[in-house]
Amino acid sequence: DGEPGAGALSRPRLTVVSGPSGVGKSSVVGRLRLLDPDIYFSVSVTTRSPRPGEVEGSHYHFVDGAEFDRMVEQGRLLEWAEFAGNRYGTPREPVERALAEGRPAVLEIELQGARQVRAAMPEARLVMLMPPSWDELVGRLTGRGTEDEAAVRRRLAEAERELAAAGEFDVRLVNADVGTAAQRLLDLMTGGELSATAI
Ligand code: 5GP
Repeated sequence: DGEPGAGALSRPRLTVVSGPSGVGKSSVVGRLRLLDPDIYFSVSVTTRSPRPGEVEGSHYHFVDGAEFDRMVEQGRLLEWAEFAGNRYGTPREPVERALAEGRPAVLEIELQGARQVRAAMPEARLVMLMPPSWDELVGRLTGRGTEDEAAVRRRLAEAERELAAAGEFDVRLVNADVGTAAQRLLDLMTGGELSATAI
């Protein structure tokens, strides 16, 4: 009806953002959050322990293994996966409610979960965030300085596996600059068809 934003509201959609460790998913999604308060950002449940600064209910819902099992059994997770020894899942109800209310929703999840969303909700749009180059990703992962060499090697092996699946995604978005990547993601969610295909 020509109202600004009406296109996005008339076709609310689930957008899945995946990408290898170190590619900057959290930064891009965090920036997107500032760009559009109407978007619903899913808060996952996880069995991993909170990192310093992480807030229950904001970064994650931190649950124990028994509670996670219960949520799986009761069908309360839209998708779930094990990653680096911990389990992560998307609570189904808040995502369905947001979409029913006409709000676009974003999940930031890893590859196995993205595949489950693809199977369960074919209308979802899957975006893989890509590093500008492999060397750049290696630099970002080693430059964190928070992990030993073996852990960095494991993450790089994992990153290689995730990037190999890029072809399964609807959009491959290069994160050379956080602000630009977030804006492209927003354009994509508010009607820009495949204009954000950056490679
Ligand atoms: P981290 O422990 O670093 O917060 O997250 C590890 C990985 O799990 C990241 O790739 C993150 O995107 C992914 N992740 C976070 N929440 C979920 C979820 O609900 N489901 C799935 N499948 N992956 C998730």
